[in-house]
Amino acid sequence: MSSQPFIVKPGDNITLSNVEQDCKPERIPDYTGTFQKKGETKKPLKKLNKRLLKLQELLYAESKHALLIILQGMDTCGKDGTIRKVMAGINVQGCEVVNFKVPSSDEIARDFLWRAHKAVPKKGMIGIFNRSHYEDVLVVRVHDLVDESVWKKRYQQINDFEKMLVENGTVVLKFFLHISKDEQKERLESRINDPTKHWKITEADIRERSYWDDYMQAYESVLQKCTTQWAPWYIIPANRKWYRNIVITERIVETLEKLDMNYPKPNSDVSTLYVD
Ligand code: ADP
Repeated sequence: MSSQPFIVKPGDNITLSNVEQDCKPERIPDYTGTFQKKGETKKPLKKLNKRLLKLQELLYAESKHALLIILQGMDTCGKDGTIRKVMAGINVQGCEVVNFKVPSSDEIARDFLWRAHKAVPKKGMIGIFNRSHYEDVLVVRVHDLVDESVWKKRYQQINDFEKMLVENGTVVLKFFLHISKDEQKERLESRINDPTKHWKITEADIRERSYWDDYMQAYESVLQKCTTQWAPWYIIPANRKWYRNIVITERIVETLEKLDMNYPKPNSDVSTLYVD
């Protein structure tokens, strides 16, 4: 198999501070995209969006697979913006976004994968998890919400769960949107300084920032322990929104192309049909 840019391979040792957050090509092995500034990605992104729409139609028509896209990252990393831009132009009927918030009493009373399993896309559909079951080894670990002996077992449980999904026709793509601590500061400040963005910021966002290093450690564990042959993690340089968007769209298109999908054969001989 040829090397794939941004992918985390099983066995890779990840130190996030050494992984590119901007868009310097020399820091990104195996990537042939040479985008240096915003305007350069406009046309290629439009083309990719069109291709994605076609592939989505095929996914729906064939209905053999579902596509599950998982987005994770620190606050302000751009999960919402990614969903808006990457999915621009696809058919909303074939796509569902699910947000994972603090679990409800109903959810907390079940195993941690229950709400994720309930939310996976049907065959033919694209499902996007805005946060996901990975919160149960991230925020839960950073804030000691359950005992270490409990969250430690979850990496393997997640791998087994995702394997089962893949074996049943769901393609799983996982993107970690990698921003720097300085970039987060700028984004939080711009929210504070713009009254139209105040709804997007809470005290909790500022508080969580003080746990940055703990989160990086928790993410490094996730990226190392839960990147698998069947459901790999991709680390996406996300300081530049335009760069993040094209890189993620490329990965989605590339993945759907590999499914080698075909339109289903009609039930009857269409050439004999006529319309009055
Ligand atoms: P977002 O930041 O994704 O835009 P919110 O501001 O509503 O959305 O944040 C959702 C919050 O829910 C996050 O702080 C996240 O860590 C928290 N959360 C998600 N899943 C869990 C979980 N399993 N246990 C505890 N907290 C969780």
